[in-house]
Parts: sequence; structure tokens; C-alpha cells
Amino acid sequence: MSTPYRVQNYIGGIWQDSASGKTTEDLNPASGEVLALVPDSAAADVDQAVAAAALAYQSWRLTPPPKRGEIVARAGQILARRKEELARMMTREMGKVLEEAKGDVQEGIDMAAYMSGEGRRSFGYTTTSELPDKFAMAIRDPIGVGALITPWNFPMAIPTWKTFPALVAGNTLVFKPATDTPLLAMELVRALEEAGLPKGVLNLVCGSGGTVGERLISHPQIQFISFTGSGEVGRHVASVGGEGLKRISLELGGKNAVIVMDDANLDLAVDGIIWSAYGTAGQRCTACSRVIVDRPIHHQLVERLVGRVRALNLGDGLDPAVQVGPVISRTARDRIHGYVEVGVQEGARLIAGGDVAEDGALARGHFYQPTLFDQVTPDMRIAKEEIFGPVLSVIEADGLEDALTKANSVAYGLSASIFSQDVNRVFRAVRDLATGIVYVNAGTTGAEIHLPFGGQKGTGNGHREAGTAAIDFFTEWKAVYVDYSGRLQRAQIDT
Ligand code: NAP
Ligand code: MG
Repeated sequence: MSTPYRVQNYIGGIWQDSASGKTTEDLNPASGEVLALVPDSAAADVDQAVAAAALAYQSWRLTPPPKRGEIVARAGQILARRKEELARMMTREMGKVLEEAKGDVQEGIDMAAYMSGEGRRSFGYTTTSELPDKFAMAIRDPIGVGALITPWNFPMAIPTWKTFPALVAGNTLVFKPATDTPLLAMELVRALEEAGLPKGVLNLVCGSGGTVGERLISHPQIQFISFTGSGEVGRHVASVGGEGLKRISLELGGKNAVIVMDDANLDLAVDGIIWSAYGTAGQRCTACSRVIVDRPIHHQLVERLVGRVRALNLGDGLDPAVQVGPVISRTARDRIHGYVEVGVQEGARLIAGGDVAEDGALARGHFYQPTLFDQVTPDMRIAKEEIFGPVLSVIEADGLEDALTKANSVAYGLSASIFSQDVNRVFRAVRDLATGIVYVNAGTTGAEIHLPFGGQKGTGNGHREAGTAAIDFFTEWKAVYVDYSGRLQRAQIDT
């Protein structure tokens, strides 16, 4: 075991420990190794960070947006230079296999490339006026000081979805990463520091949701909150932050379905399902957790799936032969197993996996066997609730209408997919799936950063991340009227 990294808070441009000096341990979920010591911050640290952000806002909002964009572009280049090293760190910090960790860093690099360009776009519009000799336009303003609260499952990608557009838009920030992934958060902040970000513009405060998070969501000087995480915490953030009239973006859970019609390319469908259900050990918000299959091909599909699921190689994600890494913690592993027990009690047919994995070296970490249930019905809890682990349920359907009804029968609405070669069926599904993301002839994961990302229904509160939608969230509209008539002109009256 190597010496643990030392994570620090970054406040007003100074790397520092928590005011109390308390720390927590950041563990490798594959081995139990202590990867880093991390500040266990409290409300006083948050207050200091918010004050630093408020001070920095005075000059950052006046920094020309293309200059802000250049800093983000440089940060992207630094991430690209360090991609391999950061990916290895990520695999050790939260377990996803190295190839996926590289993809996670790449998403940040892509986001930097896109958002740096927003420094020269961030388009508003000019329009007409109902009165003569009068000019009208709508422009974007930054909002002010914001809080970013992120989960552990995309330790680089999600923080870049929030920091890069928020910074280019002219806001200053306090960033609280998940307790499970502070190291990658620190590395992102270091990249922005090295890229030339002025002191106080981005502040990092590590600590628990219950202390650091709570202080942030109720802090009177925080004007907006961008939150990604569970539905339970998201609702709480919405209610506390809503009371303070903050602008709030919530990206929450999913219960994403793949529909397989009887005319589908089955080899392709199986590949797409395996990749989106068991990648990142099922811990992606867009992970496929339900397969809704047309009755005539049910047996054929299940037969192919079960072989593939049993053959998945479980282990430490640094090993190139491993396809499925650990889950994030013992608590998560036990919660996943609890759901599997519920599924069995509810009468679903367990056909692969179904238990914790503790053979040999696996015993040092938190591993769960890739698990497959058949004969699941939409009313079962395993078909409705987010399990966030390598557990997949197969549900039978009678034709497209029934499949769509079943796909839409959950409280969430993040991602969905359909495998079919029939253009009429495909376009019906695109129209009728109540999700923020729809894939055709691909699994439920794999968003690209220049399109809007987010969900309908219980997955959020109507905002989107990434693409131009991110700029919409991180800016205020300002309407500007310029009257060059030289006389009083009254709108709606002098017509
Ligand atoms: P979580 O438990 O809700 O935590 C998310 C963040 O909120 C963490 O930083 C957490 O801090 C913080 N937090 C906890 N309690 C808080 C409080 N009272 N006030 C303010 N902040 C608080 O979620 P998670 O387990 O990390 O992540 C998994 C969930 O995220 C899943 O439901 C998944 O679907 C969802 N997710 C959604 C998307 C999307 O874009 N839709 C993307 C990825 C993940 P601590 O770490 O200290 O607890
Ligand atoms: Mg960890």
C-alpha cells in the first residue's frame, strides 16, 4: 500500500485543511486501501468559501467571457495531458474499470472544448419594438454565487458538467463533492488553478452532505444550486433551497428500460443491454435496469443474456481482463442484496448471480455478482425502485403499445431505448417514451456532451445539463430597451 494522498479544501485560492483539522478516509472499494485523507469540513469552512466566492464575483463577472472560456480550454488541455493518470486514480477511488474511467475523464475534456466556445457564443437575441425609434434585445447575465453538489459515480464528468458552464457564464462557485470521491474533485480544481483561474472563483469544500451540504443549501448568499444525486436528497435540497428562492437544478435517479421488439437485431440488443446494465457495476444514473421484451422472442433473448451475464469477469478495475468492478461501499452492496432478496420474495425468477461475491481477493472489497431476474412484473419493487447495482430485470410485453406502457410505468424518466428495425415502431417510441433521453438501437447509456442531459418526471425538476441547456441554467435573462426617439413613448398605450 502506498502513502495516502492528502486532499485539502481550496478557499480563496489557498489550499487548506478544515478549520477543525478533522479528516476522514477515502477508501478504495476494490481493496479497502486508504487512498486519501480528506478534510471533514463544517459550516465555518463553508461560510469562508462563500465569502471568498462573493468577493471574487465582483471581478469575475466583469472578466470578458472569451477570457473565461480560455481558462476552461486550458483546464481541458491539462485533463487531456493527465488523462491516463487521473483515470487510474479514479478506478482506485470509486472502482469503475479503467477503460470507463478514461471515458469519464474524456467527458470532462469534451466539456471543456464545448464550454470554452460558449465564451464567444452565449447568444442572446435582438428583436423588434412595438414603438418607433426603439431598440430591444435580450442578453445573458451571470447569476452570482452558486453551490455545486455532486455524486460519486462520475467523479470527473459530472463536476465538469457543472463547473465549466457555470464559470464561463461568469458565476463564482463553492463545490462540495461526494464524500466517496474527493480526490478527483481536488484534481479538477487543481487543473483549473493551473489553467489560471483567479483566486476565489472556484472554492472546494470537502465534507459530509449533512454538514457541508446542509450549510450550502440554506446559505443566504448562495443564489443557485446545481445538484446531482438521489431523489431523496434532491427533494430535501429543493425544499430547503426553494424556501430561500434559490434557482435549483436537480438531476436524480433513473429506472431505465431497454425495449426489444420481435424484429430487433438480437446480437446488437444483447451487446447494448450487457454494456448498459453491468458497466460501472450498474451504478450509472442511465444504467439499464429493465429489459422489456416482446413475447415471441422472450426465451431467445433471456437465453442469450444469461450466458453473457454469467461470463462477466468481476474484479479490480485496474486489471484489463475485468469487466465489472466493485460497488461503492459495503452499505451499497448490502442494499443491493436486500433488493435481490425482495425480488425473490416477490416471485421473480433469479437466473444469474444473486449474491455478494467474496471469493479470494474479492473479499477485500465490495463486490456483487452480476444478477439477472426473469419473469418480473411492473408492480414488483425491483421493477420500480432504483437499485443502483448490477441487477437487471426482464419483463415480458405484448407488442409495442404494451411495451411502451410498461416502460413509462415508473416514477423516473431519465433514459430509455428501443431495439427494432421498423421505422414506424421506432418513431412511435421516440414520441411516446416519457424520458429525457431516448436511444434507438443502442443501450440506455452514452450521452454526448453537446446535447441536453436530464430526465422527465421524478428524475428532476425540469432543467437540463450539458449543451446550450447548461448555459440557460447558469445565466439570468436581462431584457434591454433602448429608446432613441427623444420623447416619452409608452408601451401598450401609445400605439
Ligand atoms: P446522494 O446520496 O444523494 O448524494 C449526492 C450528493 O449530495 C453528495 O455530495 C452528498 O454528500 C450530498 N448530500 C447528502 N445529503 C445532503 C444534504 N442533506 N444536503 C446537501 N447535500 C447532501 O447520491 P449518491 O449516492 O452520491 O449518488 C447516487 C445517486 O445519484 C443515484 O440516485 C443516481 O441515479 C444519481 N445520479 C443522477 C445523475 C443524473 O444526472 N440524473 C447522474 C449521476 C447520479 P455525501 O457524499 O457526503 O453523502
Ligand atoms: Mg473512495
